[in-house]
Amino acid sequence: MEDCLFCKIVRGEIPATKIHEDEDTLVFLDIHPAAPVHLLVVPKQHIGSLSEVDASHQQLLGKMLWLAPRLAASQGCTDGFRTIINTGRVGGQEVFHLHLHVIGGKDRLPAMV
Ligand code: IMP
Repeated sequence: MEDCLFCKIVRGEIPATKIHEDEDTLVFLDIHPAAPVHLLVVPKQHIGSLSEVDASHQQLLGKMLWLAPRLAASQGCTDGFRTIINTGRVGGQEVFHLHLHVIGGKDRLPAMV
């Protein structure tokens, strides 16, 4: 997608601090971190949101979740972390390219809604 912010990061057109990259995913630091550790796990292919996935995406979704604890541990979050996928306007999604937030690095994250 030409105008998609995260597609531009995947293509290297917008800078990001990359934490991990493989053939399917890119992981980089959130520009406005909600906690000391705040990573975004992004599929390289454009998928607008979790509402748009189909059966062909099952392996990719599994990889994104599989990566989360490994990336969290690599950032020092050995005692827990939070994963979030905001979906759609109601879900608070602001960037319409599927992404998994991995948040941690605090003694205890605040309770959620
Ligand atoms: P959402 O609300 O789940 O869509 O989250 C979008 C996230 O993208 C927010 O946490 C933003 O801080 C983050 N973000 C927006 N622009 C950039 C950027 O250019 N680089 C890294 N993170 C970004």
